[in-house]
Amino acid sequence: MDQVSERLTALSPSETLAMSQKSNELKAQGIDIINLSVGEPDFFTPDFIKEAAKKAIDDNFSFYAPAPGFLSLRNAIVDKLKRENQLDYTPDRIVCSNGAKQAVCNVLLSIIDPGDEVIVPAPYWVSYVEMVKLAEGRNVIVPADIEQDFKITPAQLEAAITPRTKALILCSPSNPTGSVYSKEELKGLADVLAGHPNIIILADEIYEHINYIGKHESIAQFENIRERTVIINGVSKAYAMTGWRLGWIAAPRWIAAACNKLQGQYTSSPSNVAQKAAEAAYLGPQDCVETMRRAFERRRNLIVQLASDIPGLKVRQPQGAFYLFPDCSYYIGKSFKGKTIANSAELAMYLLEEGHVAAVGGLAFGAPNCIRFSYAASDENLTEAMARVKKAIEILI
Ligand code: PMP
Ligand code: GLU
Repeated sequence: MDQVSERLTALSPSETLAMSQKSNELKAQGIDIINLSVGEPDFFTPDFIKEAAKKAIDDNFSFYAPAPGFLSLRNAIVDKLKRENQLDYTPDRIVCSNGAKQAVCNVLLSIIDPGDEVIVPAPYWVSYVEMVKLAEGRNVIVPADIEQDFKITPAQLEAAITPRTKALILCSPSNPTGSVYSKEELKGLADVLAGHPNIIILADEIYEHINYIGKHESIAQFENIRERTVIINGVSKAYAMTGWRLGWIAAPRWIAAACNKLQGQYTSSPSNVAQKAAEAAYLGPQDCVETMRRAFERRRNLIVQLASDIPGLKVRQPQGAFYLFPDCSYYIGKSFKGKTIANSAELAMYLLEEGHVAAVGGLAFGAPNCIRFSYAASDENLTEAMARVKKAIEILI
């Protein structure tokens, strides 16, 4: 008998992982699929990082580590925050987890009581709203469409705040839109939040290094909200280390302590080998980060140019991350062989089955008019994928 809890029944599966899984299944059947669904760098982890991991094994890093991670790794993260972000932290304010994904979830589970509201600007990364549900909080979605570059305004933020607002989740550079908030825009939001001292700000900066407009700006730089801002980051995107599962928070001491306690009861620390690899990543030469960023920028330019050639798609040039998020509403309601495409999830399924390109419908990101293509793929694959999308989409009537 199925006795899955109500909490789990209410949870949606991750659409990004599901589309990737589906694409892999079709590939296994021998169908030539180009997978632009899951968002992860297609590069190999740099050699010096892999060497550090091998050394950790040989040096017998095989015993339990402290729940928040080795002090040496947390010190390397403190150094990174000083060097790259000009922010002062101490290692007791850092908690390392199994990916930034667990880091976000830890924070939400640590601060949300049932019924607390969490402001989530849409389009949002798929997992935020599900994690809020897990924590028994209420999502308050603030929509920002392509005309406003997918970024919320201070007035929108102010209007969404109620006495029950507990947190805001802000992602810049953004998955899925690729939008980047400027320093002035962040200051505008910080000034609103300054008037509401109980709101915790979760600043998801996992795409910090994949930025095409210059220096990364963290909302934690503003003193009026710094004491209640939690930075979320990790090595997945910057160092091509998605499978190593190493993310972290830099947080107020009480939130770090709460996450430490929580994690101590259900996962302990992330894997020692991944921790030593991440430590090497932060302490080692950083030129690999810039090399990969440049490659992403070139691909961004390529996919923007190719997608702009597809009639009906509304394309905006992303300023960071590695996603193109065009508005495809022109094609919603059209049909193929008599079957109507009712929403962007169905459009993504159509592109997979008929065009053999895997993308993710915007519905899962709270943006039913859009579709997400990850351009962390080779130039050849991007060119072929956009040709396939064009061919498949043009025959819809
Ligand atoms: N935040 C965002 C916005 C992401 O896109 C991802 C990637 N899945 C994560 C967090 C989680 O990253 P990680 O691989 O470190 O768990
Ligand atoms: N962040 C990636 C994505 O959005 C990885 C998948 C996931 O963790 O959901 O595709």
